[in-house]
Order: sequence, then C-alpha cells, then structure tokens
Amino acid sequence: MWPYPEFRKKQKEVINVIEKSLRNRKIVGLNAPTGFGKTIVVLYSIARFFKENEDKKCLYVVRTKKEVRPVLKELYMLKSRAAWINYTFLIAKKDMCLHRLRTSQELKLPSEDFIETCRDFRSKNLCPLKRIKPKSFSKISEFLEIAMEEEACPWYACKYMFDEAHFIVATYPYLFNPYIRQSVFSYDVGVLHLKDAVIVVDEAHNLESVIQSSDRGLSAKTVERSLSELDKYSHAVPAILQEACREYLYILLNFMEKYRGAKRYLRLNADYFYGEVVDRINLDILGEASDIIRGIKVEMHGLKARSFLRSVWRFLHYFDIMYTLHYEDIGVFALGDRIEVKMLNPAIATALLNEAYTAILMSGTLPPLDYLRDVYGLKREIEYVKVGDIFPPENKRYFCAANVTTKYRVRGSEVYKKLAYYILYIRARIPSEYIVLTVYPSYEVMSKVLSIYEKAKEKIEEKIFDIVERENTKIDEVAEKIGQLSERVVIHAVAGGKLTEGIELTRDGASLIGAVIVAGLPFPEPNDYLEAYLARMSELYGKEKGWEYVVLIPTLIKVKQAFGRAIRGPKDKASFFILDRRALSKKILELLDIKPTIISLPSRLLA
Ligand code: SF4
Repeated sequence: MWPYPEFRKKQKEVINVIEKSLRNRKIVGLNAPTGFGKTIVVLYSIARFFKENEDKKCLYVVRTKKEVRPVLKELYMLKSRAAWINYTFLIAKKDMCLHRLRTSQELKLPSEDFIETCRDFRSKNLCPLKRIKPKSFSKISEFLEIAMEEEACPWYACKYMFDEAHFIVATYPYLFNPYIRQSVFSYDVGVLHLKDAVIVVDEAHNLESVIQSSDRGLSAKTVERSLSELDKYSHAVPAILQEACREYLYILLNFMEKYRGAKRYLRLNADYFYGEVVDRINLDILGEASDIIRGIKVEMHGLKARSFLRSVWRFLHYFDIMYTLHYEDIGVFALGDRIEVKMLNPAIATALLNEAYTAILMSGTLPPLDYLRDVYGLKREIEYVKVGDIFPPENKRYFCAANVTTKYRVRGSEVYKKLAYYILYIRARIPSEYIVLTVYPSYEVMSKVLSIYEKAKEKIEEKIFDIVERENTKIDEVAEKIGQLSERVVIHAVAGGKLTEGIELTRDGASLIGAVIVAGLPFPEPNDYLEAYLARMSELYGKEKGWEYVVLIPTLIKVKQAFGRAIRGPKDKASFFILDRRALSKKILELLDIKPTIISLPSRLLA
C-alpha cells in the first residue's frame, strides 16, 4: 500500500509506533522535522488500521484551505495503491457553494452568516443536494469542477461522501469552532461520530490558530450598524421588539464606549460586563428580531446577506454560554473598538479530543509532552514520538550574541543599532547567492532596527536587496520576487508571521536560505490578555509551568519555525543566529536543543 518506491529514514519505525498506539487507543504526539514525510506516514498507518477496523473514520484537520492540498495529494497517492480508500474534504462552506462558484461572487462575511443563509436556501429548495461519485482527485479545484459539471452543491456532495469516506480532511473550525463543528458531528446528512473518529491535528504547535477558532469578538461599528439596520427594516420588525432591541444596543454601545481605543488588550471584569450588559438583555428577543432582519436581507441580497444585529446576538449568546459553563476559563477584553471573549484555558476547546477514538497531534515543532497533556487537556495516555534530525546535523551551525537583548525594559536606540549592524555583518559573511532571513519579535522592533539599518547600509559598497514583511504581504509574491533577483537578499519578517511559518524558498529542491537571524527572542509583549492567560495557567499548573506554557514554549516554537525555513533537504546547509543573550539560559538551550557558538560584533563597527 506504501505509495512511494521506498521508505525514508525512520519512517517504518514511526509507522509501527502509530499502529500500535491506534490499536491501544493511545494519543500520539508526532514531532518530526520537515522532509520526514509526516503526512503520508500518518495516513498510511491509519489506513492500515482501518483495514481491520471498518467502523472507524479519520478527521484530519489543517489550519488553512491551502494546507488541505498536500493531504489530498497524499491520499490520492495512497488510493492509487489501495483503491478501497475513500476520502473527502470540507473547507469553508461559502468556498464550496455551487451558487457562489457559478457566479464567482466574493463573499466577505462571517462563516456563521453564510451557514444560516445556506439553511434558508435549502429550505426553499434552491439547492441541488446530490450524491456524486467522483474519480479520485488530488486538488480541491478538481473536485469543485466535477461537482459543478454534475450540477451538485460541492459542499453537500462532500458531506454525502462521509458515509463511504475513510478520511475527511477539514479546516480547524470544523473541529474547534463550536458553531461550525455541528456540521460535522450532528447534521442532516453524513454525520461523523466522535467516538469512532481518529482525529489528526496538523501543525499542532499552532495553538493560537486553534484558540482563534473559538474566540469571539464584536466591534462597536457592528453595533452601530445594527442600530441602522433596525431603522432600515423597522417596517418588518414588530414595534415592541424594535424598541427593546434599540435599548439593548444602546446599553451595549455605552458600555463599549468606555473602553474604545484601547491600544493593547485591556481586561474587563466579566461579572461587570454580565451585570451591566448581558443580564439586561433578553437574548430571545434579540435573536427573534435579528432573525427577521436576516431573513429579509437574504431575500434582498441572497448569498451576500449579512445581518449585523445577528452578529451582536451571536456574540452575546456565545458570551452567555461561556460565562455560564466556563466562568474561570474565559476573559473579556477591549482592543481598539472591539470587545473580545478569549479563552484563558485552551483545553476547553481541545479537550474534546479525549472523546474521540484517539488522536494524533503532529508538527515539526511539536511542544513537549507535558504541554500537550496540560494545555490541550489530554487525559489519555500519550505516546510522544520525537524523530530528531533526519538530515546531517553538521549542516546546521548555531550562533548566539551575548552582548545584546531585546528584553522589553532595555529596548532603545543602542539595542536597535547593534541589531542593525549584526545583520549587515552576518549578511556580508553569507555567500551572496543565499538569502538571509531576519526575524524580529514585532513590527515595532523591525521598524526601529530598519531605520538604522537603512542608513548603515548606505556606507556599504555591496548592494543588498531588502524584502520587508508587511501586514498584507503575500507569500507567493515574495517567492516570485526572489526568483527575479541577482543581488544579496535580506528578508525582514516578524516571528509567527506569514513568512516565518509558511514560506518555502527553494530552487531545484534546494533551500535558498543560507542563514536565519533571530533579531531578539520573540517573547510576547505584555498586555492584559497575556497576563490573564498566564495567571489562569499558573493557577492550574503552578507558576513555573504556567510561564513555560504561555510564554516560553510559544516563543521558542516561533524560533524553531523560523529556523525550519532554511533546511528543507539533505543537502541544505545553514547558519542560525540568535541575537539575544537570554537564549543562553540552560532551559532555553535545552528546549531548542542547540549548543551555539558565542559571537560578538567587532567593536569598531559600532564606533
Ligand atoms: S446548499 Fe446551497 S447555499 Fe448551501 S452551500 Fe450548497 S449550494 Fe450553497
């Protein structure tokens, strides 16, 4: 059944461990580097297990739509060797809607709104809900085309396939968003039973994305638009509901006004929010009025319909549930013109993994075992598999600067100057054909360093081309740009951003990145959310563990992710620089699993 000519190093051993764990219902934590072939190893092990366990199915969740593709590709390969394997996928419903695909409409609205509109369309029999039997496919687009040719709603066609499918590939919200999850685990067609599911969580280091699927926010603008909506549709909403809703919205808006403009997360008292706002609002009335408006908007705007009042209701309804069920594990925060309900204990979103048949959490930078157990809230036995280096370890060299740090309290022009000169110094020592990827702790530090770097660069004869990550930078555009350049290149990126997590810069299979500079350890900047999250985790697991789980491990995962950009194959060689003396602590070196050489910038350069 193995779809490739041979097994790569260590793959067979890992397959054995996974198969054994599946039989014993143990959860697997698979920490294996890029190039190991995690996806196929996991799919293959599960497929073999399914041969003897026909009642089981696999729900394989990935962070984004883009990450569905490599999994489908491997399933396609697997099916070419084992025709009995069936698979399907789910991405955002609006991206799989037949009506939208036919008209190529852009739908910029929350998934929850679209799901309600879809329900209305179906109740009016406007949708061709059909089973189709596609040949195997390796791309989302291939499947969408087949479904369109057959005049079938692709989302439902995929859903009908649940019955025969062994593998369902879906994006995170289908597992971690409580509203969207229902469409997988309880629905009119193609239901997956959690107790029979082997759940695979891809990129399981990325708890931020997992939590984001469960957090909820509401902007003052949305509340203001809800008021306008009430005026506009006053003819359709009974006066008594209208009056009540208007009063509720003003209560909410007045509350939000007090905190509007917070530049960083500002914690609000959840009891106060409940008492001052939520307890004074009849959510049934708000729900009824918002549904009337939503219905009219669907009549008028079709798939593009979005009711702002419905968003308000959804937010308050969510808060009400969380406040009742998870009082200690959530916090209410203000940021800009928004208020947000955020989780302070991620386990409330992830502990459902305990109810599955079993689960596999995998990543190239998987957090340690105790983190998985506590932060994910896993109660079952965990088999932690660390694959280690699969490429020659001598291809990686680590360096650390002991005379600089971006510690929050000591930041200033001296620090930024040192970082700028270090970057130029390192760039000059890396062969010109290789890119230097520089990773900063934040946009703010990056811009401060760059302002000095630009001036210092003018004094150097060698031409350097800089690519600077912006909030709207697109990975594909950067990759394309790089292909056209002949100068020395420095990419300036932010830790945890798009370029450090997703970019792959290779030519003929070899990495183009010759050095990665971490210009300051990317510890999170202090704010009320971080403090509240830290306080809750410390309360649950003690101060030391709390700090590790909330601050240290996520920081080091970002560093490892950045390092991971440089070595993509056995022939790649790279140098890694950490410009922050805090990295020399025993704990950090242990967690990063490195022994760096200490470097120092020649003092004449700073004179
Ligand atoms: S059921 Fe209809 S509205 Fe819903 S996704 Fe399919 S085609 Fe679109």
